[in-house]
Amino acid sequence: MDLKTAKEELKRYQEKCAALGHAMSILYYDGVTTAPRGTAENRARTLAVLSEEEYRLSTSKETGELLSFLDENKTELDEKEKREVELLVKEMNDRKKIPMDEYIAYETLIVEAEDVWHTAKEKSDFALFEPYLTKIFETNIRFAGYLAPGKKPYDYWLNEYEDGLNTEICDNFFGALKKRIVPLIEKVRSLPQVDSGVLFGDFPAEKQRELSKYLMDTIGLDPLHVGLSETEHPFTTPLGSHLDERITTHYYTDYYASSMFSVIHEGGHALYDTGSDDDLAFTVLDGGVSMGIHESQSRFYENILGRSEAFLTFLYPKLTALFPSVGNYTPRDLFRAANRVEPSLIRTEADEVTYPLHVMIRYELEKRVMAGELAVHDLPVEWNRLYKEYLGVEVPDDKHGVLQDSHWSGGSIGYFPSYALGSAYGAQFLRKMKAEGTDPDACLRTGDFAPINEWNRTHIWRFGSLYKPGELLDRVLGEPFDPNCYLDYLEAKVKNVYGL
Ligand code: ZN
Repeated sequence: MDLKTAKEELKRYQEKCAALGHAMSILYYDGVTTAPRGTAENRARTLAVLSEEEYRLSTSKETGELLSFLDENKTELDEKEKREVELLVKEMNDRKKIPMDEYIAYETLIVEAEDVWHTAKEKSDFALFEPYLTKIFETNIRFAGYLAPGKKPYDYWLNEYEDGLNTEICDNFFGALKKRIVPLIEKVRSLPQVDSGVLFGDFPAEKQRELSKYLMDTIGLDPLHVGLSETEHPFTTPLGSHLDERITTHYYTDYYASSMFSVIHEGGHALYDTGSDDDLAFTVLDGGVSMGIHESQSRFYENILGRSEAFLTFLYPKLTALFPSVGNYTPRDLFRAANRVEPSLIRTEADEVTYPLHVMIRYELEKRVMAGELAVHDLPVEWNRLYKEYLGVEVPDDKHGVLQDSHWSGGSIGYFPSYALGSAYGAQFLRKMKAEGTDPDACLRTGDFAPINEWNRTHIWRFGSLYKPGELLDRVLGEPFDPNCYLDYLEAKVKNVYGL
């Protein structure tokens, strides 16, 4: 094989993988958006064929020879090709380490588990879900043994979601958070609570749809490449490449803030993905590099920008035009309500300050189950105990407790820390952005996202997955990651909202 042919083959191989991924993600997306309820099995059959095809393609002799050849000649490759080969070789080796029958059995387990989890959550019955969750944890531990023998299983999975992450880093990070956030919440408890009436009332879905479109335009999403649908739980997914990105939201007619901030959050994910350089499309480098960096963008748009006084003051006239009852309050009331701090039960509805504690609880529980120190059977009791200890709230049932998130039913163990890490990265990006002369508040007062987006595009988005998360952070920040920057930001926010 000569190098020129191999490079062309590399491109062709990635296009095939992207096409298979495209087909599979459209099936998934259809299933959770508009497909009629009786069509799941139809999709499951096609998905089984496609995922087997994907497995065979990525582990075939030809692919192995191609990637080995390129790997041996990596000094002849450019920066992008080198990283493509690195990621593809890892993917291929990882797939080969798991026996195909176990891989397929796990995929089937996940499909079943997601279904059972829905019912268990509806009935608030953990016992129903327990056998599936036990198998999911067991499989994750066993797979980690195949993939990285000698490494702590939980460390393996943390590193999969955020390259470079391990329990030691997480322990330090969450330890630092706990030290300043727990007293901060205590302080808020002793103060008169903020009135959040401006967020509640009667808000027709039709008007909220209009708001979604307005927000997507305002934050700078390209309507030709980013679509919006409605689902039970909001999410973002690229279809095939960053040229087709979909976000979803959910409308509650008595509370518009839920969808409003979901659209901005998912919009942040979509800005990051669609901001990849166009020549990365249909390669493994297309789209965001890790969940941590992804959440740094989504939570940056949702909280740092979306919940800022400057932006909410800009948005106020639009809101009063759509929802007249908002006019009974001032922009300042809106800002305070959107940032009200109150320990609660549900992570996705938590305020910015208590949010990381929700994540920390999940991290501690996952770590102990993965280390064999806690049985899946005891998760609800431990969950409830930690909510009482860290947040001071009583969990009334499993629906509002251990069954609330979909992550575990989908096999995602080790994912949660990225939410808190992302929030912390975002706060440090903000400091850097300001230091380099972009003033977000000045932009937000007129709803002009262009300078902010340009900074993010230049420093983060355009690279897709070219750099590992740690390398990217170093390049953007030019200084070590420091969670105190995030804690300073949170304290300043609380000070402003509660007038300390
Ligand atoms: Zn997100």
